[in-house]
Amino acid sequence: MEKLIITIAPTGNVPTKAMTPHVPVAPAEIVQDLLACYEKGAAVAHLHARDGEGTPTCEVKYFAEIIRLLDEAGCPIIKQISTGARGGKSGVARADGLELQPLSGSLATGSSNFPASINANEPQLVEYLAKTMLDKQIKPEIEVFDVAMIHNAIRLQQEGLLKAPLLFNFVLGVKGSLPATPKNLFFLYESLPPAAVWSVSVIGPEHVNLSVMAMALGGHVRVGIEDNIYYRKGVLATNVALVERIAGIAKAMGRGIARPDDVEKIWEIHS
Ligand code: ZN
Repeated sequence: MEKLIITIAPTGNVPTKAMTPHVPVAPAEIVQDLLACYEKGAAVAHLHARDGEGTPTCEVKYFAEIIRLLDEAGCPIIKQISTGARGGKSGVARADGLELQPLSGSLATGSSNFPASINANEPQLVEYLAKTMLDKQIKPEIEVFDVAMIHNAIRLQQEGLLKAPLLFNFVLGVKGSLPATPKNLFFLYESLPPAAVWSVSVIGPEHVNLSVMAMALGGHVRVGIEDNIYYRKGVLATNVALVERIAGIAKAMGRGIARPDDVEKIWEIHS
């Protein structure tokens, strides 16, 4: 089976220091976590930025500082900048971080609900973000909160706005979207187009079980405090511990761990 890509999502837009002291917020804290996660097997860093107050932002300078510190440390982890709907801005400003030419960017191909807001991604904005990534040769990771988002991505590919292999991340367990159940995971899996590359990102107590299910089906896994502030019931997570656990399970399953150069091959970045 293909090597396992572990993506680390250290920060997100929601966790605060009041919720967990382990969430890295300042660029230096984020990079410190990413370096440790890279050592434990993470190959992709899914990045959100916060301003000096800890508020989500898409301002380029914060992403630039994270990338500068990673480069300064000589860490080859693949950078994926979020263009998600809770980045502190709406509309086309969500593409601002893409100016930095990360290898990858997130792209939600439809709308859904977050627990307290709308995950608003109207068709024109999705097309704009997809076109921006196409022009900049940034690999979009399609964030799937609902099965419609898979079909929207297939349509964007037919229109020439997305290139194969399509790269999907199934987001399960967000309150207001698809519940985190094996049945839902399998439904999304069966809905994939041929040759798709895919991962799961599970929010809530089912995250270990469904990550293992994805691994058994040949998928990849995203973990991190963005998705889960708890390691298990009553125990707060650290990003490193979440990566270590998945890497340990992969080892037990006999599945190799992808390094950044493996990821570029699996994503067919230079072909
Ligand atoms: Zn995110």
